[in-house]
Amino acid sequence: MKLTGLHLLLTFQCTLECDHCFVWGSPWQTGTMGVQAIENILRQAQDLGTVEWIYFEGGEPFLYYPVMVRGVEQAARLGFKVGIVTNSYWANSLPDAREWLRPLAGLVDDLSVSSDLYHWDERISRQARYAQEAAAQLGLPLGIISISSPEDVGDTEGTLMYRGRASEKLVENIPQAPWESFSECPYEDLRDPGRVHVDPLGYLHVCQGITIGNMFARELTHLWEAYDPESHPVIAPLLRGGPAELSRQYGLSPREAYADACHLCYQARLSLREKLNEVLAPDQVYGIFDG
Ligand code: SF4
Repeated sequence: MKLTGLHLLLTFQCTLECDHCFVWGSPWQTGTMGVQAIENILRQAQDLGTVEWIYFEGGEPFLYYPVMVRGVEQAARLGFKVGIVTNSYWANSLPDAREWLRPLAGLVDDLSVSSDLYHWDERISRQARYAQEAAAQLGLPLGIISISSPEDVGDTEGTLMYRGRASEKLVENIPQAPWESFSECPYEDLRDPGRVHVDPLGYLHVCQGITIGNMFARELTHLWEAYDPESHPVIAPLLRGGPAELSRQYGLSPREAYADACHLCYQARLSLREKLNEVLAPDQVYGIFDG
């Protein structure tokens, strides 16, 4: 098991409140990493010795711009490749976009801009276009992350997954399949995750909301050594038989049909939170904002 990517959810807050957001990003969310937390996380990543990429994402990491830039500088100084994921709300014009991006030039190896019909009213937003042009002028590698939607199928690269807010907002009027048919996790390598997310509370996630410990309570090196997917109360059943097995193992009563594996998985986890609150955390990722 080799961890090569550590993605920092710098904040759960966001300028937008997209229906498809895995982590319930919102202007009203709570939870943001401070400079000391970032330093701590970067040091732990360095101690592990296998991490190559550090990403800053959220929520919207540009909301905490000075903290993000400091984190990017530190990560680059420590020899990590650095990525950022943003909705580019800050790119109101080309000159503005250049100013926002200038401090990141030479430090960031991947600037990913989320732009699609969930984020904006056009697939490639005006802001994304300004960010793209400014990044090109500054020599910053930029890619667009675009999730397909019913209005935009076939022209985008990402698949919509019905977890987080999507599992509550987007599942009406779409084809559904019997719950027993979701017998594997189609998206995450739960046995050997190459990248994981760490949130502002320190929780380490193999999929958003499924945690394998807390980096503020125990060092990443120990958490990684101790990770045993076959004995994890949520991951073990997922590996044996996907979200259907997770539901079976805990005697849940799923409804007849679900939009996809993530929809069943997320809804099953919601009903297991009280029993497994240590691993199904934090509240923010389950749509509870004041937790
Ligand atoms: S099935 Fe569950 S663990 Fe797999 S990607 Fe979907 S939500 Fe995550």
